[in-house]
Amino acid sequence: MEKATQVLLLFTGGTISMSEDPSTGALRPIDFDRLQELMPELKDIGVHIRCMPLLPFFDSSDVNPDVWEKMALIIAENYSDYDGFVILHGTDTMAYSASALSFMLQNLSKPVIFTGAQLPIGMLRSDAKENMLTAIEIATAYENGHAIVPEVCIFFEDTLFRGNRTTKKNAEHFNAFHSYNYPLLAKAGVHIKYFRTNIHYNDHEQVLVVRTRTNRNVAILKLFPGITQQTVQAILNIPNIRAVVIESFGAGNAPRKEWLYEALKDANDRGVLLVNRTQCSTGSVEMGRYETSLNLMRAGVLSVYDCTIEAIVTKLMCLLGEENSTEQMKHKLSMSICGEMSISMHG
Ligand code: ASP
Repeated sequence: MEKATQVLLLFTGGTISMSEDPSTGALRPIDFDRLQELMPELKDIGVHIRCMPLLPFFDSSDVNPDVWEKMALIIAENYSDYDGFVILHGTDTMAYSASALSFMLQNLSKPVIFTGAQLPIGMLRSDAKENMLTAIEIATAYENGHAIVPEVCIFFEDTLFRGNRTTKKNAEHFNAFHSYNYPLLAKAGVHIKYFRTNIHYNDHEQVLVVRTRTNRNVAILKLFPGITQQTVQAILNIPNIRAVVIESFGAGNAPRKEWLYEALKDANDRGVLLVNRTQCSTGSVEMGRYETSLNLMRAGVLSVYDCTIEAIVTKLMCLLGEENSTEQMKHKLSMSICGEMSISMHG
């Protein structure tokens, strides 16, 4: 294993770069110079790090597709000058940003590692430095001139996850993330152990393709016992709606109400993309297993198997932004573009 030397460290905000406002007690971003002062270790780790701020720093609850576009373009513009990219980001929507970038940066052959912290970098017990320094080490891990993890990932606490398989699961503990349906890419202890059979490798000869256009006309329809026809109708008839993620029960099931079938069929006939994702964290949609999913199939709803909500929302935004035809989008929704879902034989 060899160590590459050039890293672009993109600061975007989040808890890692915040401190307590003395007047309100609330956490808010500090300025970039102060942040760099709090990270003297960056000078001594034997890697050339260029620190770049995406200003103004933001809490990741304020992230939107314009921010994803900016991050993707910064990586694309600097792609040939750096061996790896580390993005310091708030944890709240980190899984959305990592998922979005996995779709925007196609044919990636260098690491793009998101990380952050549960406690600000200036606090004594902060997890910020460990997360950041290990993320940099992963971003510079190379072998025979090729990156060991050429994917968009999230590194947190001691674990490296594929970004588009990850969900924030904990607002309290340092192990804030989990990948319920895909194994880990690496585990950091005294040494970093890479699980190479879980890592996706593109053909090194392919050039990076950047697609940053998105369309936000996507909604989530989460089913619950007793959901009314009006609620369903309201979501399926949002003006300009282009795609709806139906969060179903268990293996992809829904109430067997005729009005639900009719409403979904009508939306499908109008060209609205309808996809079925389970509310369960682990496991896959398997339409046709129970009678309660047959109406969804008949109405034209597509399975997205074991996709996370973060991955399917961002995938839809990106596919719609590329202005594919409905048939092309349906085709791309039924396949894994960059490791975001496992297609079950039964689903
Ligand atoms: N609210 C913060 C954010 O997502 C939380 C964090 O960084 O952990 O920006």
